Amino acid sequence: MTIQSVGVIGAGQMGAGIAQVCAQSGYEVKLFDQSPDAVRAALGRIERGLNRLVEKEAISDADAKAALGRLSAADAVTGLADCDLVIEAATENEAVKNAIFKSVCEHLKPDALLASNTSSISITRLAAATDRPGKFIGLHFMNPVPVMKLVEIIRGIATEPETYATAVAFAQSLGKVTANAEDFPAFIVNRVLIPMINEAVYTLYEGVGTVEAIDTGMKLGTNHPMGPLELADFIGLDTVLAIMNVLYDGLADSKYRPCPLLVKYVEAGWYGRKTGRGFYDYRGEKPVPTR
Ligand code: NAD
Repeated sequence: MTIQSVGVIGAGQMGAGIAQVCAQSGYEVKLFDQSPDAVRAALGRIERGLNRLVEKEAISDADAKAALGRLSAADAVTGLADCDLVIEAATENEAVKNAIFKSVCEHLKPDALLASNTSSISITRLAAATDRPGKFIGLHFMNPVPVMKLVEIIRGIATEPETYATAVAFAQSLGKVTANAEDFPAFIVNRVLIPMINEAVYTLYEGVGTVEAIDTGMKLGTNHPMGPLELADFIGLDTVLAIMNVLYDGLADSKYRPCPLLVKYVEAGWYGRKTGRGFYDYRGEKPVPTR
């Protein structure tokens, strides 16, 4: 099937990025969030992001304006009724995602495709709770979406071959490279990445190193562009913890137990960059370690 219009549910850091690249690639995009403020903020961020690309001469002013023209806010899920593909990018919580699918499915065309940007949750299980498991797929974009090349594609047990072929062609039409992952907890990228970040938090928790020493060590010692704690703040500590819990529950192996210090940061509401504080405090001119 041909995709012309895309609905995005969840206007946080990922939903905004997904909406931007879809609009830049010629799709009509509707963005919905339970918080109208989040949608407004996302549209503002997208506009600023496009303007920066114009300043850098990466895109033309006309292309930026055209992309913005293809992008609009939906006040309710009913606003996504005409979309050919709906991508869910809301909070990493299975109950939240199931409730979203329940509320949106009844309004969609019968052949509309449904995708989740989940970082870790079973695509088979999410799909099974909808009215269209055959038309459901995992499209796992990376953060920041406009910059990162990869989209991990995850088929649930019931995903139809045509859904898969359309999803791969769609991701490629956004200029992305796809990698297939089987539907096991956290797929490929986060199965490897998030336990490493969790281990970095244990390293801090056990006093092996400070925030700065751990990030400097990993940046300069392993050539990672960001240290693991800086990266955790960038991803969102709530998301990192949610993924560790999916790994721990889904694989029933104690090696995936979330570090108690990570739990404590999340309990404090210190989720990282998006809330102004995490392993670093972002409220001043430059980030300052919080431990
Ligand atoms: P975020 O916290 O920045 O945004 C989540 C958004 O979902 C918020 O704006 C919130 O208002 C909205 N939301 C929550 N419940 C909703 C509902 N019932 N209906 C509509 N909107 C609702 O989170 P994020 O980092 O953008 O992550 C979103 C998804 O993308 C998660 O599944 C996450 O695992 C996945 N993901 C995150 C990253 C990352 O690096 N942060 C990378 C890849 C995938």
